[in-house]
Amino acid sequence: MNAINGKTLVYGIIGYPVEHSFSPAMQNAAFQAAGLNGVYVAFAPAPEQLEAAVEGIKALGLAGVNVTVPYKEAVMDYLDDLTTEAMLCGAVNTIINWQGKLTGHNTDGAGFISDLRGTFGFEPSRGAALLLGAGGAARAVAVSLAGAGCRELALVNRNQERARKLAAGVISATGVPVQVFPWESGHPGLASFARRAVLLVNCTPVGMSGKGNNPFPLPETLPGPGQLAYDLVYNPSHTPFMRQAESNGAKTANGLGMLLYQGALAFTAWTGLEAPLETMRRVLLEQISG
Ligand code: NAP
Repeated sequence: MNAINGKTLVYGIIGYPVEHSFSPAMQNAAFQAAGLNGVYVAFAPAPEQLEAAVEGIKALGLAGVNVTVPYKEAVMDYLDDLTTEAMLCGAVNTIINWQGKLTGHNTDGAGFISDLRGTFGFEPSRGAALLLGAGGAARAVAVSLAGAGCRELALVNRNQERARKLAAGVISATGVPVQVFPWESGHPGLASFARRAVLLVNCTPVGMSGKGNNPFPLPETLPGPGQLAYDLVYNPSHTPFMRQAESNGAKTANGLGMLLYQGALAFTAWTGLEAPLETMRRVLLEQISG
């Protein structure tokens, strides 16, 4: 642990609840590895205290904070500025306090793309991508895939209106075509799109229990050879979606890399320094196995 003194810069994460977060361990290890006099703590303001909590970032001079569920959208109302990425994603996961001005960033989507490219050598322009889900994480993934050159997207969701709204937003912001399918096994259009997709991403919490086989509306043979099956869930580290994909011969990934890279990008945004990736990865793996 870094020695704390009068010059220590304070960072943190705001969520509700937040005690499950791996970010304090990951970011404190990063500050230590980089030799920075900083500390990162978790805050859980109640929903009616969110505005006061954001004012507190300024009042107390916190250097930066992450924002997690359920505040990624609500926090936007209380910030001075937003990056283009945050506006496109409709959510903020990182706030920088620069001389009392709070700017909201979103590093989730860029973290996802960094993991695709950095860990899997996967280039989004390679082909079509199918996303299961249309919530906040799907939005960040869809916007960043479209921005990174993906030529065609599909969203599969129970709530069709939510998916159609997300599709319209991505189309108008990027011009990339986005189809919407119901969460329905045997749907012919969905099966056909899923077969030709090169990337299939689970952007839902389905599979977090680690139990069950094929809870997804995909043919049993998918994801299959030549496809990358990416599950945003990282705990458990080996999900039902990944198990099905592996048994069919697809490549697989869990969401730990996205978590790592979104944190690394936040670290760099706050400090201007390259993040100590291997230290951060080691701590995340320890947190999961612990
Ligand atoms: P969210 O905004 O609440 O959206 C949840 C999505 O999952 C919606 O599309 C919802 O469908 C769908 N869903 C939920 N339960 C379902 C079920 N039983 N069957 C089918 N669909 C279901 O949540 P989020 O922020 O997008 O997060 C989604 C997942 O991504 C979570 O597991 C989260 O932990 C993970 N995540 C990981 C990272 C990372 O760094 N790896 C980052 C962000 C999020 P409806 O719209 O039909 O309700």
